[in-house]
Amino acid sequence: MIDVEFPILGTEPVVVEFANTLYGLGDQMDYLRDPQWIDLWFAQVAPEHAAMGQYGEQVRTLRDTVHAVMSAATRGRDPDAATVRRLNAFAAAAPTCLQLEWSDRPTARWLDTVREPDAALGRIATCCIELLAGPQAENLRRCQGPGCSLFFVKNHPRRRWCDPSCGHRDRQARYYRRHLPRGGS
Ligand SMILES: [Zn+2]
Repeated sequence: MIDVEFPILGTEPVVVEFANTLYGLGDQMDYLRDPQWIDLWFAQVAPEHAAMGQYGEQVRTLRDTVHAVMSAATRGRDPDAATVRRLNAFAAAAPTCLQLEWSDRPTARWLDTVREPDAALGRIATCCIELLAGPQAENLRRCQGPGCSLFFVKNHPRRRWCDPSCGHRDRQARYYRRHLPRGGS
């Protein structure tokens, strides 16, 4: 049995959780480096997409792509044109169509028209495009906690951290910086 503690916030759009699998600011930890880890991550975050571990290279290529685009967005920079093209190619490989389902009342459901891995990766790429070009775009942030690199969508005006424990660590670090004597140990 493998036991990995993924950086999953549980509060974010799937593409934000996906980008966060590349963790850290200096030495980065890749939480999708192993096929079993990929399967486990999808089981926890997007269980409708099973057995994605066998497509590790494509999964990591999209992850690196969305990570690069979101890093650029949170720094107010433009991503490379090649990165944007790669993101669009993932979205284009997985067209979906709207289907009517009628049991008791009419409901609509987006249906994948391709198989995995294109379906899963296309949905994540589409989620990325909708986030970056939609009304939540300006709320995409990077956590300000010490050493933390996680992206999140700011859902209330004072949120500055990915989760309350990061906020606690950040406040503690600021407190010690203010209260320790200068040059002290
Ligand atoms: Zn954080």
